[in-house]
This record gives sequence, structure tokens and C-alpha cells, in this order.
Amino acid sequence: MVTTHNLGFPRIGAKRELKFALEAYWKGQNSRDALITTGADLRARHWRDQAALDLVPVGDFSFYDQVLDMSFTLGNLPERVRGFHGDALDNYFRVARGRSAAGNDGHAGCCGGVAAGEMTKWFDTNYHYIVPEFDAHTSFTLDASRLLEQVAEARALGVAAKPVIVGPVTYLALGKAKDGSDRLSLLPRLLPVYAELLRTLAGQGVEWVQIDEPILVTDLDAAWVEAFTQAYAALKDNGVNLLLATYFGELRENLTLAASLPVQGIHLDAINARQEVEALIRAVRDDRVISLGVVNGRNIWKTDLTAALDWLEPVARHLGKRLWIAPSCSLLHVPVDLAGERKLDEDLKPWLAFAVQKLTEIEVLATALRRGRDAVAAELAANTEAIAARRASARVNNPAVKAATTGINAAMGQRNSGFAIRAARQQARLNLPLYPTTTIGSFPQTREIRLSRSAFKAGTLDLQAYQQAMRQEIERSVREQEVLGLDVLVHGEAERNDMVEYFGEQLDGFTFTQAGWVQSYGSRCVKPPILFGDISRPRAMTVDWIIYAQSLTAKPMKGMLTGPVTILNWSFVRDDQPRSLSCYQLALALRAEVLDLERAGIGIIQIDEAALREGLPLRRSQWGEYLAWAVESFRITANGVADDTQIHTHMCYSEFNDIIAAIADMDADVITIETSRSDMELLNAFDSFNYPNQIGPGVYDIHSPNIPTEAQIIDLMTKAARRIPAERLWVNPDCGLKTRQWNEVVPALASMVNAARTLRTQG
Ligand code: GLN
Ligand code: ZN
Repeated sequence: MVTTHNLGFPRIGAKRELKFALEAYWKGQNSRDALITTGADLRARHWRDQAALDLVPVGDFSFYDQVLDMSFTLGNLPERVRGFHGDALDNYFRVARGRSAAGNDGHAGCCGGVAAGEMTKWFDTNYHYIVPEFDAHTSFTLDASRLLEQVAEARALGVAAKPVIVGPVTYLALGKAKDGSDRLSLLPRLLPVYAELLRTLAGQGVEWVQIDEPILVTDLDAAWVEAFTQAYAALKDNGVNLLLATYFGELRENLTLAASLPVQGIHLDAINARQEVEALIRAVRDDRVISLGVVNGRNIWKTDLTAALDWLEPVARHLGKRLWIAPSCSLLHVPVDLAGERKLDEDLKPWLAFAVQKLTEIEVLATALRRGRDAVAAELAANTEAIAARRASARVNNPAVKAATTGINAAMGQRNSGFAIRAARQQARLNLPLYPTTTIGSFPQTREIRLSRSAFKAGTLDLQAYQQAMRQEIERSVREQEVLGLDVLVHGEAERNDMVEYFGEQLDGFTFTQAGWVQSYGSRCVKPPILFGDISRPRAMTVDWIIYAQSLTAKPMKGMLTGPVTILNWSFVRDDQPRSLSCYQLALALRAEVLDLERAGIGIIQIDEAALREGLPLRRSQWGEYLAWAVESFRITANGVADDTQIHTHMCYSEFNDIIAAIADMDADVITIETSRSDMELLNAFDSFNYPNQIGPGVYDIHSPNIPTEAQIIDLMTKAARRIPAERLWVNPDCGLKTRQWNEVVPALASMVNAARTLRTQG
């Protein structure tokens, strides 16, 4: 008989209760007790939502991040927060975000703010974890209190608890040695603490522990392979059964390793690694549990249950009670409950499944496996109908778009002339000074802008009045830029709520949820658009705003678009066609917008690809394929313009070494990047590659309220000019200014413009 379970549940709450409780606590508007109560209420509710499962995850709840929780469980606190006199939870927030709460920790004098822990992306998701910090002297001591409390709490509610922890090898792999020492040398010190944790849980009567080792789906070198063998030899025989969980991809060459570890069960992501199910079954001892992730934990589509049963039934017959089923990964990466969607497109709603619905799918599959398909005939029939409706829907399939993507050819991504000729023609048209100054696109999203937008959405402000308010904001931005003396202006993006949503709302093939929130980090959530159908552009999306902005100034006004790869990577996308095809469809729609802008007389067009790098697959061997279609999509979007139209792109991150050839291949005339925090050292990647086109290395960090001085900017640009010839350099901030205040933006840009003027006189 099959066993059902879940790897993790979203903790933010269907109404983002955790977000609001956390933020109120941090502002000092809520007591610690109130926050703790909210946490307990959410856990209880989420366990109820999962009550039909045979085993329910416990310990997956977190006040900030599960990796940071693990650091506290292992007693691995950064030196700078040790000796804190306040409550442990406050100290936890100090690591998470640099401080605990306004006013109510009472320790501002003795042990107040500290540097927050570094944050980075959890594998290829948009979830960010707090990077564990190590050095050669790191030691570990067990603090099992959080887990034990949650296990006890679950027990009291009658929950069949399966504690979830991050495994030791993944924990080390995800961390950083601050002193450059080898973090694997810490493994012998770490393992006894894990063993003690397992024994402690066994002492509480826990039978199964889920130990997450997603690092097994990545490229591992020999030392890390060896670490697995060593680690799991030390963790066996501690009184609990271990379910080793892998997810987000295929095990490939690590399959034999995973299968050889002395654990009682293995979870495989049978969405991404379906083709490995058989090999895994053959490779593991025949008394081991095989848990298969059969429902996609990374997207919002209903599972085709009949298709799933078709391959699952023979596996179930073979494995008998050794088979467990679950979602492919933790449901942290999907919204909580479709039932909360009141305004969602009625055609589309039956095609979707959020966390709660995905667990129902697991139940239906389990019932069919236990008692035959007849026992769930009605559920299966309804599912088949929804799947068929989606497949056949005219909302999904647009023959004209399909024909257009078939018509894509390499010439579409090819500029008429090489960079040198284009640069000369653009200069003849634009007549820009040496070290031209510009910004990345957005200006402050002020309170007035947000109020106008919400009034417009609520229907209390009509379209005309809203557009008028936005035009006023654009005018303000243009005036400010003229006074500052910037060379290439932007309209400021006042009319955009979000750089992806703004375009999604205007393209056919996208829909939006009301409450489809997914945790990004800490209390922050995103609400990804749903790309469900063939993409087309019914009408121009940005042209009127840009023409209006250009009408206010004699300086060049940049057109401003979000690129196809970034729109794709920040949305929930179709699972019925390759990502590459959806990306090409986006590219065609955006190409039409680019050409419309050009026809309207706009001479410079920026196409942001902020999320290009984060789409890199987990395995290096797959990078080439991804970069090929990602770059081609950008080229199709951008490169249909005449030689004297200048294409800019923007990427706000600082790791280019791996992708510099792909960036050069995009062939944008100008790329603006984030560099200020790297002291221009990241330009080395461009320098040693002999990157041929123009570059705007960001000269100040827009995330900080600090105002850069002219001298600092001159210093940075001087360093830049040692790597890239001055004729090819632009001067601009690291990223857009939407989160800043005007009173920060104006002096910062004044320093920037003055720095450029000084540099010109020196040049
Ligand atoms: N044009 C966008 C802005 O200025 C770019 C944002 C980004 O790269 N994240 O806000
Ligand atoms: Zn940016």
C-alpha cells in the first residue's frame, strides 16, 4: 500500500499572515508573543490542510528561512551576533536582516544592529536563503529546541509528524568559508551534531526524518561525493529512519552514490527525473522506500492524473508498500490555495492547482493506487476534462503566433552592420559627449504614484485622471533630469507597478492571480504572472508614454522594455511546450514594440534582462542550450532596428565570468551592469574577453541610501577606464531608482553628472 507525504508547505499563509505579523513585529507594533502565536496558528492550520497525508512535514515552518533555522539548530551563529543579551528569536532576526525589531529588544546600546547575513538563491528557484558562514574554527553545538517544540506541537494536534532538516552535505555546500578555508574540513565536527539531533528526535518517538540533500542534483566533484559517503555512514543507526530527499532535477552520475547511501528511503523528483525512476529502483536495496515526487511542486498547473497513473501503476505493483508518493519538492514555491482566488479568469481556474490542490491530487492518486481507478472515477473524469479543455482551448492556442514562431530565422537577430559602423552612425545621430550619463529607467515610486494606482484599480480614479497623474510624474522626472544635466533621459516608469507585470497585463496569453503569493525571502513575496497561452501583443504597450516623455525634451529619451528572458524567468510558465518556445513568442511580441518605438522616432531603446543569469540550469552541461535560446530571444527582440538606433540592455548582478561570451553575443550597443560594490573588478571579465561594445558600469549602489560623492565616482570611473577604453564607457547608477526617495536621487545624480564633467576635462 502506497504511503503519501509532503516535503514542505508554504508558511507565509494564504493571506500572507506571517508577512504582516513579522513586519509589525519588526516595526515594534506587535509583541513577540503575538508573532509566536501567529506562527503556531499557521502551523496548526497548515497541518490541518495536510491532514489526509500519511506523513506530514514538521520543521518546515520558519520565521525567516529554513537554512538559517538549520544554522541555529547546529549552533552555527556568526561571531558578530554572539553574546547577544536578548531573546534568541531577536538574535535570529539580527542574522537574517541585521537587526531584530524597533524599540522592543532593548539592546540598542549593548548589542544592536549588525551586518545581515548574505542572501542567495535557493538552487534555481526565486527563493533566497541566508548563506551559512564558516571559517576554519567553526564549531557546532546542537540546539534542537525549535524542532522539538514543533514536533511536540504537531503531536498534540494528532499530526503524523515527519521532521524535515537540511542534510549535512547540502548545508556545508550552500555555505561560505569567510576565511577561504575548506568547508569540507568541518564535516567531522558537524556529523556528531547531526547524529545527536537524530538520536534526540528518536527519543521523542520520531520514526522518519526527511533529510534534504538537493545538492545531489548538481555537478559534484570527488571531494563532495566522498563527503556523502562519510556523512551517511556516520548518520545511520541513530534510531530513526532517514528519507534522503533530492529534488529540482536528475541525479545522473550521482544516482549510484545516492542509491548506495545507508538510508531507509530516497525521494526522487519524478517530474524532472521521471526517466531515472527505473534505474533508481534497480540500484537501491530491495528493502528501501522509494518516494516519488509525482506532482509538480514548482508550477501551478493541474497534474494529468490519468497520465500519471499510467506510469505509476506498474511501479506501484512492483514496489508495493515500499512506494511513497509526494509532490516533487517542497510546496514553498507555489501559492497556498486556489480557493482564495475570487476574480481569476473562469476559463483558466479549472486548469490550476496551488499547494492545497496539489495535495488533493496526491490523495486521488493514492486512492487509485490502493483501491483502483474506479474508486476515484469522478475525480479522474473531472481531471481529464480540465486537462483536455486546456489542451484544446482557443485561449491557449493561437495559430498566427505558432506560424510566426516557425517563421523565425537567424537574420531576424542580426543587425545590419557590425558594432563599429553602428557606433559611428549612432554618434552622428545622438552627438553624445565622452562619458555620457544616463539612468537605468525608474525614478522614485512615490506615495502619490502608488495612491493614484490603487485608486485607479479600485475604480475611484478614472482612466483619464490616472493617465494625467502619470504624465505629471513623467514630466517631473524629465524636468529633474534636465536640471541635473543628464545626457540620455528616461521617462521614469511611473506607470509601471512592476517591470514584468506591466508587460504581462498588456500581452495576450498572460493572466494574474489576486493572491498567488510565493515567498521570495523573509517576509517578501512575489506574485508571478501566469503565462498560459501563445503570446501576442494586441497593441503597443509603451509607445504613447515614451513619445510623451520625448515631447518634453530635446535630449534623447530612452525607450524602456523588459526583455523576453526576464519576463519568462519571473513568471509561472506553460508546461505544455518548451520554455524556449514561450521565450521566442515573447521575443516576437517585444520585437514589434521595439520597431514601433523606432518608427515613433525613439533613437535609444533599453531592453532589461535582469533575470537572464538566474535562468541558468543547475547543471553546467545544460548551460549552452539555455544560453543559446535566451540570447537568440534577446537578439530577435532587439536587433531588427536600423544601425543608428542604439540598443541598451541592463543586468543588475555582478557575476559575468561564466556568461560573458553569451553577453557579447547579444550584441547590444550598450550594456549597463552592477559594479559599484565590486570596485570595478568585475570589468576584468569584460576586459579579458575583449568585450567589444559599450559598457556602463554602475557607479553607485542604489540599494543604499548613502549619497556617493563626486570623488568616489571619479575614482571608480578611473578604475573602469583602466580596463575599458574611455570612448566605450557610460556613467550610470547600478540599477533603477524606484525604491529611493527624490531627496536621495537628486544629490546622488548631481555627483554623478559632475564626476562625468570632470572626467571629460581630464580625458
Ligand atoms: N528599468 C528597470 C528599472 O529601472 C530595471 C530594473 C531591474 O533591472 N531590476 O527599475
Ligand atoms: Zn537592475
